[in-house]
Amino acid sequence: MSKFWSPLAASLVPYVPGEQPKDKKYIKLNTNENPYPPSPNVLEAIKAAANEDLRLYPDPTCGELSSVVADYFGLKPNQVFLGNGSDEVLSFAFAAFFDPAKPVLFADITYSFYKVYAEFYGLKADLIPLDEQLRMPLALFNRENGGIVIPNPNAPTAMLIPVDEFRALLEQNADQVVIIDEAYIDFGGESAAKLVNDYPNVLVVQTLSKSRSLAGLRVGWALGSEELIDGLNRVKNSFNSYTIDRLALAGAIAAIKDEAYFQETAAKVNATRDAVAAELKSIGFHVTDSKANFVFISHPNVDAEAIFLQLREQGILVRYFKQPRIDRFLRVTIGTDEEMEAFLKAVRGIV
Ligand code: PMP
Repeated sequence: MSKFWSPLAASLVPYVPGEQPKDKKYIKLNTNENPYPPSPNVLEAIKAAANEDLRLYPDPTCGELSSVVADYFGLKPNQVFLGNGSDEVLSFAFAAFFDPAKPVLFADITYSFYKVYAEFYGLKADLIPLDEQLRMPLALFNRENGGIVIPNPNAPTAMLIPVDEFRALLEQNADQVVIIDEAYIDFGGESAAKLVNDYPNVLVVQTLSKSRSLAGLRVGWALGSEELIDGLNRVKNSFNSYTIDRLALAGAIAAIKDEAYFQETAAKVNATRDAVAAELKSIGFHVTDSKANFVFISHPNVDAEAIFLQLREQGILVRYFKQPRIDRFLRVTIGTDEEMEAFLKAVRGIV
């Protein structure tokens, strides 16, 4: 607490991201990064963009990148909004669409940034508990609300909702915006991008951080009706018109264009995930059905925090949430086959 902080700053309870140690000795399986490097074309494009044009502001409309993203999904550029990582896109969406007079709905257990944004914007929140099997109970979201946000797959459970199940929710909440946060959709899910032309109230948020190996570049987007995209632009242009820099714009365009590299690395992550999940089950773990680049696991006999600490001592970082309902679980990002072999070896020595 400081006398210099505004009442707002003093009241905030910020999100605490997973540890990012500088020391490379760790096998880092704690923040859902992709273990493979970005496409070589991305590095080339960024090098080419590192030129004297950096003295000029970037295109505030992100026009070229918007067109590339729109083409990729069969949408129009005015159905695409770009931001500095999907966290920024989500924060703008909370500001643009959620009605403070009514509660925003999100799950209890879900991505913990939603609670932080809700508090930042002074929104009330109603939490919808996951069911016994940690599934997202979509039917329970049909109650009075000023907006809904659901990640698909959910984090940290990794579990996927078949996309067509969102149709009923979107119809029943036609006067509210429903955000579907697809940070992990490319690891085995079908995107709700196909719903954008059918439902003016759906906002589909995606990122280059996970499936395109570009967490360090900070590019994310929202797909939605022109009406929703206009709302996001109003917020952005009241905050910072140049959220994406020239280097990131160039890199992002190259990333989306290299579809073959993306397909190959995502398939590798998925194959490793399925093998690791099978192996963990064989040594007694409960493993949720993951369609993300991480697994969510618990062991009936061994305390999750103890496993977390012992792995850490052995140089392997995973994520442990000291939180009711999930304090028996660990979230483990899928690394390379070699990293996962080392993880499994360490785990076998613990349980
Ligand atoms: N949504 C979910 C569900 C996430 O797990 C993350 C990553 N922590 C994000 C959004 C944000 O990703 P980024 O800002 O890197 O695009």
